[in-house]
Amino acid sequence: MKKKSAEQIQKELKHQRMISVEFIKDIFPDIKEIAFEFKFDDPDGPTISPNYKPSYSSVKLLPQNLALFRFECENRECVKGGFYLREEIKDMVQAHKSESSGQLICQGWQDPEREGQHRCLLELSYSVRVVYYGKS
Ligand SMILES: [Zn+2]
Repeated sequence: MKKKSAEQIQKELKHQRMISVEFIKDIFPDIKEIAFEFKFDDPDGPTISPNYKPSYSSVKLLPQNLALFRFECENRECVKGGFYLREEIKDMVQAHKSESSGQLICQGWQDPEREGQHRCLLELSYSVRVVYYGKS
């Protein structure tokens, strides 16, 4: 499997910094902690490998973390993909909701050779738990 070059990663990080330098505490001051549980499922997985299994990960964000809410696609060759959960968090905070879940499908391209032709379509099932200040 091809990995992203250091130069590519630097470029992406720079781009991320340009689009947002806000911290969670600046836009959502009520939030004490956000915990995400992710399940990544590739619909093509079982055809690529009979031993294919979805992958799981979890992320915890604190007030001092950047308020990007953008998560990398698990498909390492994915081009321009990723998952954006900022709107979801915004809605949760507005409704003062503690838990939410949903599903997103990566709209990036499967790999650099198929850019513009074949969408990545990796499925992300997520659940989010928000802890607010003054509430346990
Ligand atoms: Zn993707």
